[in-house]
Amino acid sequence: MTAAMPRADRPDGYLTSAKRVAGWLRPAWLEVDLARVTANVAHIARTVAPARVCAIVKADGYGHGAVQVACAAIEGGASYLGVALAEEGHELRQAGLDVPVLVLSEPPPEAMRMVVEDHLTAAVYTAGGLSALLDAARAERRDSGAGCAPVPVHLKLDSGMHRVGADESTFAELAAAVAGQPELVLEGAFTHLAVADEPGNAYTGEQLRRFDAALAGLEAEGTKPHLLHAANSAGALCHPEARYAMVRPGIAMYGISPGPLVRAHPAVAALQPVLSLKAQVSFAKEVEAGERVSYGLRYELAHRSVVATVPLGYADGVPRRLYEAGGEVLVGGRRCPIAGTVTMDQIMVDCGPGAGVRTGDEVVLIGRQGSEEVTAWEWASRLGTIAYEVTCGLSPRLPRIYV
Ligand SMILES: *Cc1c(COP(=O)(O)O)cnc(C)c1O
Repeated sequence: MTAAMPRADRPDGYLTSAKRVAGWLRPAWLEVDLARVTANVAHIARTVAPARVCAIVKADGYGHGAVQVACAAIEGGASYLGVALAEEGHELRQAGLDVPVLVLSEPPPEAMRMVVEDHLTAAVYTAGGLSALLDAARAERRDSGAGCAPVPVHLKLDSGMHRVGADESTFAELAAAVAGQPELVLEGAFTHLAVADEPGNAYTGEQLRRFDAALAGLEAEGTKPHLLHAANSAGALCHPEARYAMVRPGIAMYGISPGPLVRAHPAVAALQPVLSLKAQVSFAKEVEAGERVSYGLRYELAHRSVVATVPLGYADGVPRRLYEAGGEVLVGGRRCPIAGTVTMDQIMVDCGPGAGVRTGDEVVLIGRQGSEEVTAWEWASRLGTIAYEVTCGLSPRLPRIYV
C-alpha cells in the first residue's frame, strides 16, 4: 500500500521540488537561515554593547558557509571577523568583504605575506612569528612603494588554557618589539577562556585577572593596545566582566548554546538555531516482521513496517555511530528511528506499520518539522560530543540553501 510511488504520480514529485529548493539534483541539503544569523548577532551586539562583535567564521562558518554567514553577521552589527587560518581570511577577501579580519592563531611564517597582502590582522605570540610578519610588512612596502598603512597586530596571552599564546614576560617583550617598528601597529591584545561555558567555575575570573595583570604590565612600559578581547560565546553572554572592548562569538551566532550548563541563561535561550539538515525519501517499501536491515543486519523489524531510504550518510557527516546511539529523524511530523547501520550515502528509517510515507516526502535530520525538533545538541549528547563537532562535521558534499 505504501510502496514507492512513481514520481509522475506526485504533483510535487521530488525531482521538481529538489531542483526548486536546492538548485541541485540531489534531494539532501542543508538549509541555513541567514536572517537568524543576523538576528542572533544583533542580540549578541545589544547584550555586550558597547563592546564590538568579532564574528567567528572559521571552519567555513562552523559548517554553515563562511562568506554568507559573515555578510549576515555584518548586517547584524559585527564589525570584525575571526578565522583560524590565513587561507580562510583570504577566502573572505576574495568574496569582497573588506571589514577587519583577525586570524586567531599565529600564522606560520610562510603565510605572513598573505596576511599582509590581504590586510588580515594576525594573532602573534612568538618572536619568530613577529619577525616573519615584520619581514612580510617590509617586503610589501618595498614592492608596493611607500604609503602602506602599518600592519595591525593582536598579541595573544596564554592566561591559563595552555593551547596557544605568550606567557606574561614574552607578551611584554613582544609588545615592546612591536612598538619599535614603524611597519607594525599594536592594535589589540587578547586571551582565550577555557571554561566560560561553566558559569560557576572560578577559573574564568582567574584567567581574566592574569590578563589584566599582563595588560597592566604593558601599560607600565607605556604600551596600551586599545582593542582588548577575551570572550568566546559563553564569555560574551554569561560573563559581563569578560567583554572588554570586543567579544568573539562563534557558536552563539549559529543559534547554538555553547554548552548544557549555560543553555537556560536568558541571553543564550534567546538564540535561534540557523541550520537544518533535510532530505527527501528516495525509496520506500514495506518490509516483513523479522526481516533485518542494512549492513550487518543489526536492525530487526518487530512488525511488518514501512522502511524509508534517505539519500545521505556518513560521507555527508551523519556519523555512523548515530544508529547505535539511538538516532531519530522526523518524517511526517513524527520521530522515527534510524533503522540499521548508517551507510556512506544512505540511511534507512523505520517509519512504522502502515505509515503513509512515500518517495519525495521531507525528512528532517536536524531542525524542526511540525511540533517536533531535533537539535545539533541532541546528536551531540547521543554521540558523546558537542554541537560544534556536529555542525563542523557536515560535509561540503551537501548542497547549502540560504533562506
Ligand atoms: C573558536 C574561537 C572562538 C569562538 O568560540 P565559540 O565558543 O564558538 O564562541 C573565539 N575565540 C577563539 C580564539 C577561538 O578559537
